[in-house]
Amino acid sequence: MNNRILLSTPHMSGNERKYIDEAFETNWIAPLGPNVDSFEKEISIYSGVKGVTVTNSGTAAIHLALAVLGVGKGDTVFVSTFTFVASANPILYLGAEPVFIDSEADTWNMSPDALEIALTEVKAMNQLPKAVIVVNLYGQSAKMDELNAIAQKFNVPIVEDAAESLGSTYKNKKSGTLGKLGIYSFNGNKIITTSGGGALVSDDEDLLARARFLATQAKDPAPYYQHSQVGYNYRMSNVVAGIGRAQLEVLDERVNRRREVFNNYQLELGNISGVNFMPEMVETTSNRWLTTLTIDPTKYNLHPLEFMTMMDEVGIETRALWKPLHLQPLFNNTKFYTDSENKKPVSEMLFERGLCLPSGTNMTEFDQLRVITEMKKLLNSSRKRVHVFNWNKKMGSNAKIQHKIN
Ligand SMILES: *Cc1c(COP(=O)(O)O)cnc(C)c1O
Repeated sequence: MNNRILLSTPHMSGNERKYIDEAFETNWIAPLGPNVDSFEKEISIYSGVKGVTVTNSGTAAIHLALAVLGVGKGDTVFVSTFTFVASANPILYLGAEPVFIDSEADTWNMSPDALEIALTEVKAMNQLPKAVIVVNLYGQSAKMDELNAIAQKFNVPIVEDAAESLGSTYKNKKSGTLGKLGIYSFNGNKIITTSGGGALVSDDEDLLARARFLATQAKDPAPYYQHSQVGYNYRMSNVVAGIGRAQLEVLDERVNRRREVFNNYQLELGNISGVNFMPEMVETTSNRWLTTLTIDPTKYNLHPLEFMTMMDEVGIETRALWKPLHLQPLFNNTKFYTDSENKKPVSEMLFERGLCLPSGTNMTEFDQLRVITEMKKLLNSSRKRVHVFNWNKKMGSNAKIQHKIN
């Protein structure tokens, strides 16, 4: 059989070694150093944001963001329910409690209506959250203007989890720069990678200085090691930052290629009844980190998880969409706000219908054709058919009887 086609794998540019060699030649192997400084400057230029602190993971960046916003024991933090668990884990690290907010259909991201309902309700109980974490899934930006307007009305800061949307734009601004603080991830499966890493970005340089302080063990300004508060070891190493510098140089190329991959899928599968791709909101461009689609269960016999298994059998990795956090055993008994009182929550509907297709920038066109062919085969064989028996031939009549087999 041919090689296995994976969802999204690291794609080096070839320049990474140059920056790593520099680090070795100057013996800047220790954490921090010139690659870290340059990488931070280059991200700040790319994103158009004043300050950047690179970290050893995106999760660490979220943890720092919440810490500098003063999240602590007994506080609540609102967060998108439709996301990877890393968006919410740092809330637990700080002893705070998450409250989950549903998605809306246009972007699959946080519903402004649900956010407003939630904030209005908790304000009446004098329990406003310390922050709202808005996630931009699979590269698609959330409705940031609407979400910001609501959050500002209640005076609650937004942290933008742009781990999956680096290189995407929202009204000509780079994704990740629309909240009080934003975070990126350079994990191995993301659009660019340092093998593991993240960044915290903000125009508020005081907050970033404080994040840097917390990320380097919270050392007091004293001639010896003195500490008055809990700190973390969260900074990125100078070797790893070298990989990041080379990767950032090709980020826009990677975005273009991911969009091309998406367009190929859409062209080949987009007209099939019951198959719908993640929308792209007007005035935004998605980096199309992963091509994701939904399969209408009224039209197909197979559940997306069955698609996943059967694609796996022919050597193709696909993946279910994120299981909403309010359905996770980890978050039993956690509060959840939906924007559709009488309907199934949008996030649950997406989880039940959705599938991610291989979307790596180093996937060959031949490999993508294989994915498309196998998807078409499966869709065809699992379609709930409406058979038209032509009675003309047999019965000499004009009657046509529609018979639904499934
Ligand atoms: C990957 C990811 C993170 C975490 O980033 P790491 O660098 O893996 O710690 C956070 N949020 C979302 C939505 C992600 O996809």
